[in-house]
Amino acid sequence: MAQLRRGHEELVLGLLRKHGPLSRGELGKLCQLSRTTLYDILAGLVAGGAVVTSSPQDAPRGRGRPAETLTLNPEAGQAIGIDFARRAVHVAAVNLAHEIVGSASEPHDADLPWLQRVDLAERLVGSLNDGGLRLGALSAIGAGVVGPVGWREPEDDLEAPEPEDDLESDEPAHPVQSLLRERFGAPVLLDNNTRLAALGEAIWGAAAGDRDVLYLRLSHGVGGGLVVGGALHRGAYGLSGEFGHITVDPDGAPCDCGGAGCLETVASIRAVLDAYRAAGGRADDVPELVKAIRAGDGTALTLLKDVGGAIGGVLAAVCNAIGPSAIVVGGELAETGPALIEPVERALRARVMPVSRHRVSLRRATLGEAAGALGGIALVLHESPLLSRSPAGPDLAPDLLEETKQRQP
Ligand SMILES: [Zn+2]
Repeated sequence: MAQLRRGHEELVLGLLRKHGPLSRGELGKLCQLSRTTLYDILAGLVAGGAVVTSSPQDAPRGRGRPAETLTLNPEAGQAIGIDFARRAVHVAAVNLAHEIVGSASEPHDADLPWLQRVDLAERLVGSLNDGGLRLGALSAIGAGVVGPVGWREPEDDLEAPEPEDDLESDEPAHPVQSLLRERFGAPVLLDNNTRLAALGEAIWGAAAGDRDVLYLRLSHGVGGGLVVGGALHRGAYGLSGEFGHITVDPDGAPCDCGGAGCLETVASIRAVLDAYRAAGGRADDVPELVKAIRAGDGTALTLLKDVGGAIGGVLAAVCNAIGPSAIVVGGELAETGPALIEPVERALRARVMPVSRHRVSLRRATLGEAAGALGGIALVLHESPLLSRSPAGPDLAPDLLEETKQRQP
């Protein structure tokens, strides 16, 4: 019954999202629910703060009261995305109209305990929408964490228990899952944060509108994610998108994964900076390396040409395997710009099968550090059984995409 009610709520919210303010009579015609059911659902949504009522100010004079209209409450949150990165927490939220109401970030020490990271997330979420964000019964959280995360398919069972129970197993996939559930009182979906960044870029970012996307992140680690046919690909053990551990030199340096000569051993931030210093360059971090490149430093440019070649080779191999229409490169090292991206593109075009050579497009990521948190929101809107099973259907993504496109300058 709870599932059915959720379905009716989503149906009504979907109509208000699509048509804007509506009277009860108009809603009744559009939703085809019985008058009793509709009024009951509306009473619940108004009481929960998801929907607000208003009377027209300049109602024409006539018989009877002017019709009261119902609209989505712009302050009611529907999905919150939280990215627990290694050294920072990033959050973002969308309201019931699926408009992004804000995002926020704060760095922290790498060894900060989970309890304090959740405190920080709560404070950041509290700061969104000028502190006016209300979390209602229809809110859910999509959170990203570092490392592999297993994924349980929602059971395809209409007689399922309460959605809260349905979304989570008895044993949470990660300690942060139960902490978040207690703190926010909302269902929590969890995934790897780099994979969520891939989903974010595929929906709102550099590859918005593409259904087959390869996302590569060049940061302290090298990883990525695959969006295949519009859905995040997780793999059988929640371990897909580990492009950083594809071998580029069998005789290369040992890697943290236990292998040798993985892409990460040549294309991580540390690997690139170490190689630069070993070749006589001087840079302690990526911004200093970027400065050297802008100054035309030959050592840096030669190094990035080699690193780009290795990256492009791996991308070509993965491209041949999955056939993406877009490749998105993000992470701090992408800040080095054309000095890295051009050699990547050259190696990619040279090694990918000729048929895809001019079809696949290589782009820089556009969402920056908010990508993971936005991916968490996308996870909730796309994959929450709470939404995808409702009669209103998961027709949320196209709306979102349009809205985001319109919002972009
Ligand atoms: Zn490795």
